[in-house]
Amino acid sequence: LELKLKSLEDRIPKKYPDVKYLNYKNRKRILITGGAGFVGSHLTDYLMMQGHEIIIVDNFFTGRKRNVEHWFGHENFELIHHDIVNPLFIEVDEIYHLASPASPPHYMYNPVKTIKTNTMGTINMLGLAKRVGAKVLIASTSEVYGDPEEHPQPETYWGHVNPIGPRACYDEGKRVSETLSYAYAKQENVKVRVARIFNTYGPRMHMNDGRVVSNFILQGLQNESIIIYGNGKQTRSFQYVSDLVDGLVALMESNYTQPVNIGNPVEHTIEEFAVIIRDLVGGKSKIRSTAAVEDDPQRRKPDITRAKKYINWEPRVPLKIGLEKTIEYFRKELDRSNHSQRN
Ligand code: NAD
Ligand code: UDP
Ligand code: UDP
Repeated sequence: LELKLKSLEDRIPKKYPDVKYLNYKNRKRILITGGAGFVGSHLTDYLMMQGHEIIIVDNFFTGRKRNVEHWFGHENFELIHHDIVNPLFIEVDEIYHLASPASPPHYMYNPVKTIKTNTMGTINMLGLAKRVGAKVLIASTSEVYGDPEEHPQPETYWGHVNPIGPRACYDEGKRVSETLSYAYAKQENVKVRVARIFNTYGPRMHMNDGRVVSNFILQGLQNESIIIYGNGKQTRSFQYVSDLVDGLVALMESNYTQPVNIGNPVEHTIEEFAVIIRDLVGGKSKIRSTAAVEDDPQRRKPDITRAKKYINWEPRVPLKIGLEKTIEYFRKELDRSNHSQRN
């Protein structure tokens, strides 16, 4: 019995991270859909530390309780297991609508569900916002630009998306999500903010989510070959998750209602990226390439003039610093899963 009690004690967090005290007037009730996911959990941490009340709604498709367990039991925190494709009736001041699978293998796993989440789910969140008068921020994506013909991509670019390709469930789902936001804004006076998020990485990314950062780091740490899809000349621009969180909050708090790109404009080819990660991990991985994936966007880099001008935001974390933190996280996760497999 003593042993059992001891192990229980170990699981109870010693202390919550320091939270600001806000009086009732300044404290907001904030709903974060998809709050148990990678980005949502970091946003939860930030807003909890600011002293707000946070309600997370998540169906745990890719999210994990572990990402937010350090808040369990805190009086400002609530976690609701709910699928946003179904209506939700609660009272809140702000909604950060992040619920949606985000990595290609996850959103392609059940394309119909991805479309339902981004259309019916978004309608429900806009309907909720309309009823209670809440402000909504929609997590859109650089994928609305598809395989872009304009480079870098400004928000005025309409995009180049294959409407029936393998990525369409996500790309078109997010495009409709934007269309719905502006329809509710115009017709129902809902206050909307639209963030077009570019590739983001950091701790709490899902180990098996198949995105390039997690794949390359895991392959590097395990001394396996780093596998590039295609010739590696395609480019991406990666932002660290804390920069994204700052951008989302700045956009929510601003008066700016048009879509805003939130991303880091430092662009690399995937080939360069493989070398950077291999060298940072310090392993002996070989870099190999395999067949290209269908409809893979060839170049992507945000034009962030709008973000700088209207929400006074720009990314601050350099790639190497962000990658080091992410590698450290994955090292621990690997140890943890190796350990649990041994037991
Ligand atoms: P993630 O998969 O870690 O988080 C998504 C969360 O939404 C998960 O917790 C998942 O369980 C939840 N969810 C999915 N469908 C749901 C449903 N029907 N009902 C309730 N919850 C549901 O992904 P992420 O990287 O944190 O992405 C968050 C948001 O940001 C997504 O909307 C994504 O499209 C957008 N985004 C992310 C990136 C990126 O690089 N990470 C880039 C562009 C846009
Ligand atoms: N909705 C919700 N929570 C609310 C209010 C509405 O989930 O607090 C859902 C509602 O079930 C509806 C959707 O949001 O399916 C759109 O709401 P809206 O008021 O625009 O449409 P209507 O109810 O008139 O069809
Ligand atoms: N990619 C790769 N190897 C991997 C995973 C991805 O070469 O193991 C490539 C992929 O083809 C794409 C880029 O890396 O060109 C970014 O892929 P990711 O899935 O991370 O994001 P997205 O394509 O949605 O930007």
